[in-house]
Amino acid sequence: MANDLSDALSYYAATAHPWPEQPPLQGEQRCDVAVVGGGLTGLSAALELAEKGYRVALLEARRVGWGASGRSGGQIIVGWGCDQSKLEKLLGRDDARHLFDWSSEAVDLIHRRREEHQIDCDWRAGHVHVPIKPRQVSELRGWQSDLAEHYDYQTDWWSAERLQQHLGSRRYLGGLYDAQSGHLHPLNYTLGVARAALAAGVQILEHSPVFALQPGESVSLQCPKGQLRADFVVLAGNAYLGGLEPNLDRRIMPVGTYIAATPPLDEATANGLINNDMAVADINWALDYFRLSADRRLLFGGRASYSAIEPPALRGTMRRRMHAVFPQLSGVDFEYLWGGFLGITMNRAPDFGRIGSNVYYAHGYSGHGMAVSGIAGRVIAEAIAGQAERLDLFERIRHRPFPGGKYLRMPLLATAMAWYKLRDALW
Ligand SMILES: Cc1cc2nc3c(=O)[nH]c(=O)nc-3n(C[C@H](O)[C@H](O)[C@H](O)COP(=O)(O)OP(=O)(O)OC[C@H]3O[C@@H](n4cnc5c(N)ncnc54)[C@H](O)[C@@H]3O)c2cc1C
Repeated sequence: MANDLSDALSYYAATAHPWPEQPPLQGEQRCDVAVVGGGLTGLSAALELAEKGYRVALLEARRVGWGASGRSGGQIIVGWGCDQSKLEKLLGRDDARHLFDWSSEAVDLIHRRREEHQIDCDWRAGHVHVPIKPRQVSELRGWQSDLAEHYDYQTDWWSAERLQQHLGSRRYLGGLYDAQSGHLHPLNYTLGVARAALAAGVQILEHSPVFALQPGESVSLQCPKGQLRADFVVLAGNAYLGGLEPNLDRRIMPVGTYIAATPPLDEATANGLINNDMAVADINWALDYFRLSADRRLLFGGRASYSAIEPPALRGTMRRRMHAVFPQLSGVDFEYLWGGFLGITMNRAPDFGRIGSNVYYAHGYSGHGMAVSGIAGRVIAEAIAGQAERLDLFERIRHRPFPGGKYLRMPLLATAMAWYKLRDALW
């Protein structure tokens, strides 16, 4: 995936805690479980499995945290990439409730790991979804009553005036504030989980792209300098997995998305933007989301691209979007601008499951994976250890391949998304 800003230096990489380079896979090796992918899904599965006593090796094509987990907006939000109403349609209300509760468990798991493994990752509590249009006010108020009534989950509705007590922008018509959600430094959290996995005995192998998978009673994985055989495999490559497993490739679409960081702002300017350190996201299809970093930069995310190529004039577009929210930053440019790929499914619901009896996978968080990737790893580890009830429930969600085949699916999705963007602009 060239020209996609994946190799641009991010604010996170520039402020990452040290992580010693791990060796690549060399020669013939064997383990109980091989995990492909060193993001939060893979690391979480590896850590949970090592804690259960399995011999685990994790193969990462680049460096741990190189993918979405280490470059995301860092917004930790209870819930999934699709509305609960969608999950209710797919699974019924009782099982949709289970999924919601597990997304809340996912946030608790972050706190448990931060404390247990002393992961320093700038956690801040508080998140607000903000409406730009009257129809979005109704949508968010609907979410709020639904969450309270059917999920026992309490959020606060803020009027525009109440929101403006904390947010220095006049763009929004109110806000749905959630005190349990929040934000963190995604790369430092990911590296913290990696350190915990190493300490638990996981063998982490970097610069080890898996280019072939041979199924069987013992699965064989091929890397440039070696071969790994394992009783079980966990595919946790997200949108970066490519064609390694064609059945999965058809069901997930990589979508490029971008984040920019201003230079550190002085205290008064930063407080004038957000004075309670919450994270903010609107609910447009092509959404804006933002928050302050620990060193008082504004981290501003948005702009999706349905090709592997960086959108033209990206910096200018991102600047215009930031200034539309915060006109007071009109003289401020960005110090960092980077991008990454998230993996979406057709219905935006998560796609977890098994291929055959010993290859497991989890992906398709559809832009909402920072917290739930932790639960995905846990659910897969439980299934490998013989407790598959939770994975069975996820497997009941039916997923369809993107239409258009290998070559037409991206242009078709781009056309569909253009319609949603138009809808955002008009209504
Ligand atoms: C710019 C951006 C902003 C985002 N913001 C948010 C946010 O604010 N909140 C939120 O909840 N979610 C957000 N997301 C989504 C979230 O980051 C992801 O859902 C989550 O990190 C996925 O974790 P993962 O471990 O499944 O995948 P990744 O973190 O992408 O890790 C996959 C890893 O697998 C490796 N890999 C792939 N194929 C192979 C192979 N064949 N061999 C070896 N290794 C391989 C890759 O190199 C990569 O490191 C964002 C994503 C992006 C890109």
